[in-house]
Amino acid sequence: MADTTLMTIPGQVDPVPVARDITPRADGRIDLIGLPRPRIRELFEEAGLDARQAKLRAKQVFHWLYHRGVTEFETMTDIAKTMRPWLAERFVIGRPNVVEAQHSTDGTRKWLLQTDDGHDFEMVFIPDADRGTLCVSSQVGCTLNCTFCHTGTMRLVRNLTPGEIVGQVMLARDALGEWPKGRMNDLGEEDAGHYTADGRLLTNIVMMGMGEPLYNFDHVRDALHLVMDGDGLGLSKRRITLSTSGVIPAMERCGQEIGVNLAVSLHAVRKEVRDEIVPLNKKYGIEDLLQACADYPGASNARRITFEYVMLKDKNDSDEDARELVRLLKAFNLPAKVNLIPFNPWPGANYECSTPERIRAFSDIVFEGGISAPVRTPRGRDIDAACGQLKTAAQKKSRAQRDREAAASNADPSP
Ligand code: SAH
Ligand code: SF4
Repeated sequence: MADTTLMTIPGQVDPVPVARDITPRADGRIDLIGLPRPRIRELFEEAGLDARQAKLRAKQVFHWLYHRGVTEFETMTDIAKTMRPWLAERFVIGRPNVVEAQHSTDGTRKWLLQTDDGHDFEMVFIPDADRGTLCVSSQVGCTLNCTFCHTGTMRLVRNLTPGEIVGQVMLARDALGEWPKGRMNDLGEEDAGHYTADGRLLTNIVMMGMGEPLYNFDHVRDALHLVMDGDGLGLSKRRITLSTSGVIPAMERCGQEIGVNLAVSLHAVRKEVRDEIVPLNKKYGIEDLLQACADYPGASNARRITFEYVMLKDKNDSDEDARELVRLLKAFNLPAKVNLIPFNPWPGANYECSTPERIRAFSDIVFEGGISAPVRTPRGRDIDAACGQLKTAAQKKSRAQRDREAAASNADPSP
């Protein structure tokens, strides 16, 4: 079981158990994935290395872990052969456990993953002609209960640790074979050179999987720092987008401490409608949210804020809604673009997707208002990988199926 401790999370459900940065393992070894350089150095010192050795080894190991993606200490060629077993006795290099990997007919891939303490979560890779985007989860479940979102029907199980978050990106690089290859430099040392995302399959990351990333701020920040570190995964902050349903108090910190692109799940422009579909709106209203967007550090015409807007038939999709959207974005003078997301259905959802004609008309009005509003093509719908369809397989099973399985395991005669 993961070691959990009660810590306050701002939000509807409060407090909830969250995992610590290091989850103790049965064999007593420590998983290094998710830890920053200074923490690795500290652990090496605690394990008996002197300060100078610990610093040097932490720097080397950090590079092998996050830049080269190796999973065995034995392959760390610039670390003395005798030192490698010493490391392997005390530490491990983990990855999230893969329960199932699925491929959509449109090329989208979805992985059902599991934490060491047995919680399922998901990540999705969406290849396009000019880029490849990994959609990363930040929590198992979500506290926020947006009514059109499948994840919102799960309770929050727990926050993912930094290791479980950065581990998703690392696993994707494993699966796509995209770790930089080593070369010998002039000193005869192996060198992976400078990472560049150009020409790769995985070029972008969106924090748009399960969960509300700003309700797991510290872990998401720590994980993204490893992703953005030039000697780590080396992905530029301009290629990373964090999506929030509008947790105003954490938005400024997000700009300052993480500095990635911001996407905001707006979805409605009238209070009654947003209160219903994004219940967090009752706590943080539309106008305050847009003000926080206007104040977002780093937003500019070159780095616009994305407003996500799910198209729900007869709910938020009228011409008046489109005009009000333009008015609001202009009133706050926002460097904005709008993503119109056709609603992705899931079993038991109470909404329908707007018609293609309605979506087109809505998009046209926003474009005519001078704001870009492309319609997103749903991806991976056949494997439930599209926006808002993520929910762990275990929880998708019907009640009856779970009862049958429980009865079968109770009846199991094996010792
Ligand atoms: N919790 C964060 C990020 C995860 S959701 C947030 O809400 O922003 C990623 C995006 O998918 C959000 O804009 C979300 O509102 C949208 N989404 C959720 N359910 C959806 C569905 N059924 N169809 C289309 N988009 C959906
Ligand atoms: Fe949570 Fe985002 Fe889904 Fe809302 S849309 S329930 S915030 S994951």
